[in-house]
Amino acid sequence: MTDTALLAKGFALLAEGYQTLALAYSAPAGASAPAPAGTPPPPLHSVPDDEEKPEVCPAHGKPFIDGNYGPYCPSQSDDPAWANAKGYCNIKPKNVAVWLRTHA
Ligand SMILES: [Zn+2]
Repeated sequence: MTDTALLAKGFALLAEGYQTLALAYSAPAGASAPAPAGTPPPPLHSVPDDEEKPEVCPAHGKPFIDGNYGPYCPSQSDDPAWANAKGYCNIKPKNVAVWLRTHA
C-alpha cells in the first residue's frame, strides 16, 4: 500500500467518523440512545414518597403542622366529614388525595 493510498484510507475513515457523528447529533432526542427499545431501566434516583405529599391543607390553605401523631391542619373545619370530634380539620398529607378526589 502506497502512502497516498494509506492517506486516502485514513481520510475515508475520518469522513465515515464525521458522518456517524453527524447522524448521531441530527437524530431526534432519544433516538440516538443505545438502549434497546422495551422496558426502560429504573431511574437511579426515584422520587421519595414524602416529596410528593402536599405541605398545605387544600381546604384551608394552611401549612400542615407536625404534631405528635404526624402533620395536621390547625384550622377548624366546617366540613363535618373532614373534622375530628373537636371540629378541627382532619385533612392530613396522607389523605389529601382522598379529599381532592371528593372535592374536585
Ligand atoms: Zn384544613
